[in-house]
Amino acid sequence: TWSAVPAGPPDPILGVSEAFKADKDPRKINLGVGAYRDDQGKPYVLGCVKKAESILEASQPDKEYLPITGLAEFTKNAVKLAYGADSAPLKAGSISATQSISGTGALRIGAAFLARHYPHSKVVYLPSPSWGNHVPIFRDSGFEVRNYSYFDPTTLGLNFEALKTDLLTKAPEHSVVLLHACAHNPTGVDPTPEQWAEISDICKERKLFPFFDMAYQGFASGSTSRDAFAVRHFVSQGHQVALCQSFAKNMGLYGERVGAFSLVTADPDEKARVDSQLKIIIRPMYSNPPAHGARIANTILSNEELYAQWEREVKGMADRIITMRENLYNILTNDLKTPGEWGHIKSQIGMFSFTGLKKAQTVALAEKAHVYMTADGRISMAGLNASNISYFAESVDGAVKG
Ligand code: PMP
Repeated sequence: TWSAVPAGPPDPILGVSEAFKADKDPRKINLGVGAYRDDQGKPYVLGCVKKAESILEASQPDKEYLPITGLAEFTKNAVKLAYGADSAPLKAGSISATQSISGTGALRIGAAFLARHYPHSKVVYLPSPSWGNHVPIFRDSGFEVRNYSYFDPTTLGLNFEALKTDLLTKAPEHSVVLLHACAHNPTGVDPTPEQWAEISDICKERKLFPFFDMAYQGFASGSTSRDAFAVRHFVSQGHQVALCQSFAKNMGLYGERVGAFSLVTADPDEKARVDSQLKIIIRPMYSNPPAHGARIANTILSNEELYAQWEREVKGMADRIITMRENLYNILTNDLKTPGEWGHIKSQIGMFSFTGLKKAQTVALAEKAHVYMTADGRISMAGLNASNISYFAESVDGAVKG
């Protein structure tokens, strides 16, 4: 029956992890996958998560199904975290929200909702480059996927002029535009607040639909409210945004799959109708979401003490990454005098850095130095720590000097 099924290509990011696992060299480093590691290179369970779990255990919640749109108190708190407590549509009761299977599930629900109910367009514009999964998520949901300029390989920064030109002149009116709210993956390059304001104006002028993916709130600057600037600014300008939230990175809840999808609507009546259609989309997909992770996140978001601890712990993760950026820059530039300009390592933001290393150099790094990263030269800064950073820098130096 399945003889005509062709073998598909392996996932480019998870493939890196497999090669890493098979490597027996003790010096090996995996900078492929975007999961935080502590300074000992170990996965990190946040202290606030451990406390929330023991609170939950003591309360012995039952294992009943959650509603289709999940734990209502969790989505309420998630939306407050993203939009801010004084957000006008939040206060007006016009934000429709549902729990989701982490950020990926939020994107999928959002894409499916827009494909069914957004009346104006079936075209989505993604930044070039974007997170690899954006393309199949939107394509499988029935969208035509196109790109807008974003990263400039010559400066290793934002190509803002080309971005503006594409949104102003290439994207047809009403197109959906996917925006990484902060800590752009894979480049680590974000617009400045002033540039965000211009993008917001362009979206308004060209009637583009802003669809935010916020997978790293708190991870970029260490402050959850600073990282929400773009979303909050767009909303303050009257945009009715779509928003995908993930608690994988900022609460370290990766495998618990905690997220939310929300849409700003015109008024509570419209919200109620959107709510009903979100349920109709979700019910045949997975019926209702898992409870445990949402309960953890909700316990943290609703408990003053745990919330304060969470903010400290997110900042701790962000700060460790920033320190690694500074150290890597200093070793390459000052100690090793590695050819090239490495300032982008420091200026890029969030979990990833686009090093500018070429594909052949990444292959050589894996084969000769046991250092693994994606073929586009993206490294997860969280994979670096005090014990491996010098070895990594020396390996990069070797690859660059050839
Ligand atoms: N969007 C972006 C930009 C991401 O980097 C990620 C995680 N790699 C996600 C969404 C979704 O991740 P998750 O489904 O684990 O929340």
